[in-house]
Amino acid sequence: MEKGTILVTGGAGFIGSHTAVELIEAGYRVVIVDDLSNSQESVIEAIAEITHTPVDFYEVDCTDKEALNELFFKHKFNAVIHFAAFKAVGESVENPLMYYHNNLLSLINILELMVEHEVMNIVFSSSATVYGEPDELPVTEATPTKPAHSPYGKTKQMAEDIIRDSARAYPGLRAILLRYFNPFGAHPSGLIGELPRGVPNNLVPFITQTAVGIRKELSIFGGDYHTPDGSAIRDYIDVVDLAQAHVVAMERMRSGVGKSACEVFNIGTGQGLSVLELVHQFERATGVKVPYRVVERRAGDVEQIWADTSLAANELGWKATRSTDQTLRAAWAWEKHLRGVK
Ligand code: UDP
Repeated sequence: MEKGTILVTGGAGFIGSHTAVELIEAGYRVVIVDDLSNSQESVIEAIAEITHTPVDFYEVDCTDKEALNELFFKHKFNAVIHFAAFKAVGESVENPLMYYHNNLLSLINILELMVEHEVMNIVFSSSATVYGEPDELPVTEATPTKPAHSPYGKTKQMAEDIIRDSARAYPGLRAILLRYFNPFGAHPSGLIGELPRGVPNNLVPFITQTAVGIRKELSIFGGDYHTPDGSAIRDYIDVVDLAQAHVVAMERMRSGVGKSACEVFNIGTGQGLSVLELVHQFERATGVKVPYRVVERRAGDVEQIWADTSLAANELGWKATRSTDQTLRAAWAWEKHLRGVK
């Protein structure tokens, strides 16, 4: 039984592609738009291969409202999941206008078209970055947000405000904001995973690239944080678990359950791991050594953050299910597959 058609923007990206798979497997029809600025068209074929379902794909930039409008006429969407955005923190500092233009205009276009075409449900990719350096740990959805350190982070905060105000103003519009912690891993099929361009910014792809020999050593940014081993602490969430959170969010909107027009959920494991712990856990899980060196802190990094996930558990019935070891092994299998290593 088909449950409805969902527009997935940024569906060729890391989280978007894994979510598209979970949605199709849960019985939704998926239409992907992606401008391929940070992804590859082969991902669309991989989604079709995993799900044995042809996927509707349009190479469209969400800042192009006319092109999007045509798709809203062509398909009767029941909901939108909006992933499409730029996400490199450092780049956003160097080129803030590019980030504000792309991330905010895309969102505004989507919301305007949703209202015009009466598509009343949106799930938005938010981020733990909205909490800044939190005063309390773990962070709950009620923990006050702090001014973000980067234009990228600010676009996530502004996007949340834009969606919240819209859900308040336009009758019937419903939104779920998912604040992702640190996604990692790959699909168990080995057909999709993270595809960083150039030198990876994120920790896990840097670890796997070092393990496979593309990078000489991992730099651990900061060894003097006020944490047990001095390295920074994050909450690393399996990308398939994270993708499944979107399916349950969609089910919640479909069934009309919900406490307000705009709801927010933390999507993490509830467990904080330090950079050093993660590296050592990777070494144990895979049996592969990762040469590393502790260097200066990276500008803009927070010291420690992990999620209180009880709201997602209680309201969505969602919890992370995969172990860190399992996900590290999936990330490693994906890296080896990319490099043709056995
Ligand atoms: N990190 C690191 N070396 C790297 C990349 C990241 O030590 O090459 C650290 C980074 O300083 C942070 C953690 O790993 O403490 C997670 O960083 P990532 O960029 O993956 O995600 P973020 O939490 O910044 O969104």
